[in-house]
Amino acid sequence: MNSETATRSSLGSSCLAGAMEQREVPRHEYDDFQASAAGVDGAVVDAVSVDLEDYYHVEAFASRICRAGWGTFASRIRQNTKLTLDVLDRSKCRATFFILGWIAEREPKLIRELAHAGHELACHSHFHRPLHTLRPSEFRADLVRSRDAIENATGVRVVGFRAPTFSITNKSLWALEILAEEGFLYDSSIFPIHHDLYGMPEAPRWGHRMRLPSGQAIWEIPPSTVRIGKMNIPFGGGGYLRLLPMPFTRWAIRRTHRQDRQPVVVYFHPWELDPDQPRLTGSWKSRLRHYTGLHKTENRLHEILSRGRFQPMINLVRRLETQVRPLVESVADVVLPRFEHGVAEHLHIPATEEMLKMGQSA
Ligand SMILES: [Zn+2]
Repeated sequence: MNSETATRSSLGSSCLAGAMEQREVPRHEYDDFQASAAGVDGAVVDAVSVDLEDYYHVEAFASRICRAGWGTFASRIRQNTKLTLDVLDRSKCRATFFILGWIAEREPKLIRELAHAGHELACHSHFHRPLHTLRPSEFRADLVRSRDAIENATGVRVVGFRAPTFSITNKSLWALEILAEEGFLYDSSIFPIHHDLYGMPEAPRWGHRMRLPSGQAIWEIPPSTVRIGKMNIPFGGGGYLRLLPMPFTRWAIRRTHRQDRQPVVVYFHPWELDPDQPRLTGSWKSRLRHYTGLHKTENRLHEILSRGRFQPMINLVRRLETQVRPLVESVADVVLPRFEHGVAEHLHIPATEEMLKMGQSA
């Protein structure tokens, strides 16, 4: 670990208050985060995030689009980011933007606008490659390049990460060690569902702190699911938000708040607000997932966001840090098993969901 990494790691593990330390953006932009993170009236705080990528970056069409050819597509990222900012403004909430480093390098002004509007900046890798297709050294290089592009554009420190296509799975848990070493405070890449491209259905459904085999720790904030029978059903973002009936989504939100007593974690992409985007060729499944319901996204998001208490992901992490960590540390962390051949066969969870729930709703 070099000295830069060491500095980031010690900051990351010991100093949440400094998590959003910044160099150019006015301090008050982020002080509000801290005040609201405390949960002034004790109510649940929800989280909203945007994976900042363009329509031709998505995994659904990656097999037909060479990354070297990305620059040949007509960019719609500025207009769609504006739509995103508009819907967030109308809903009176600020979000976390998980930004593709490739975009940050080409659109630094756009990234600065996000920071100045008071949104949290986080990392969504550089080239949008699923982590299980990378060697650890390739992932680290991609991660650092992406983070540096965002930080150099804005002067804001990046502490959150979401893998492309939620691709931290049993095959790529090693990535959590690299994130912690690089000073990331939290990850939002493990989707506790069954899916053909990603998912760890046995993973906890709520925000939790993971103790890694090396002894490092990192917070994990999964996207929302609702438990029906033995299944975790996702409802709070992407295609699930567009494809599932809205009455189901409303019910799932109510159940998460009232029965599970947990925050809702919503995610979406700027291209999901753009029904007129150029159509790409791909399998019927890819086209179904990518194009269905695009015209519904804006209204659905506005309804959900304007009725909740949605804030950036870092607020949720701070809330967990102050409310859950003391409880968890007094009993047990969520401990990952030692990786065998780089792969953890099972995720053992000695800290139960009940315990995490107690901490969160305390
Ligand atoms: Zn993505």
